[in-house]
Amino acid sequence: MSRDPDIRVVQLVMALRSAGISDKAVLGAIERTPRELFVPGGFQDQAYENRPLPIDCGQTISQPFVVAAMTEALQLDDRCKVLEIGTGSGYQAAVLARLARRVYTVERYRTLAKEAEARFAELRLSNIVQRIGDGAAGWPEQAPFDRIMVTAAAPERPDRLLEQLRPGGVAVAPVQRGDVQTLMRYTKDEDGAVREEQLFDVRFVPLVEGAARAL
Ligand code: SAH
Repeated sequence: MSRDPDIRVVQLVMALRSAGISDKAVLGAIERTPRELFVPGGFQDQAYENRPLPIDCGQTISQPFVVAAMTEALQLDDRCKVLEIGTGSGYQAAVLARLARRVYTVERYRTLAKEAEARFAELRLSNIVQRIGDGAAGWPEQAPFDRIMVTAAAPERPDRLLEQLRPGGVAVAPVQRGDVQTLMRYTKDEDGAVREEQLFDVRFVPLVEGAARAL
């Protein structure tokens, strides 16, 4: 595989298209987001491969296919105010920021949040707002949101987050169901009723509830 990031990112986009991602705006956002900036030094040569990679604090940067599929499932437009739970490396937030008006992202590890902050500054992504804390509680001060994306597996339907979704809004979240995690999509109608859809099975680190880690 080529060492040139431009060629490698085009190859990644082609792989995502063959895997079924068809939304041109999503593919364009992936193409304009240098994943090499979000993976640790030792994994640079794998930055554009379609696989998850380890990041600091024992966490994971998601597989590009999962980032693309979850972004596509969220049905974003450039007027959307988006909440992301689990900043991690910041890669998913950076992709969302290219498609949405503003992204609010919450991470419980200070180390990860600080690293992501530096990457957002380097990429001049000025429409991302960060907070360190327990994302299981959402971001009530900024609610309601047009879209919500959870990038850690919730133990059950994340009702506290769905309360922060605007009528007409869409949320995607991996939810643990026995031995498997299923990516769920929740759509809130204008009366506040929530419709659920099962999209596909995924593997995420758990959404850890409670006090944020000092790390
Ligand atoms: N979206 C990330 C990948 C997330 S991995 C990326 O693009 O790289 C899941 C992240 O969720 C981890 O960083 C983990 O620390 C974080 N997390 C888990 N439980 C959380 C909680 N309750 N509040 C905020 N972040 C949480």
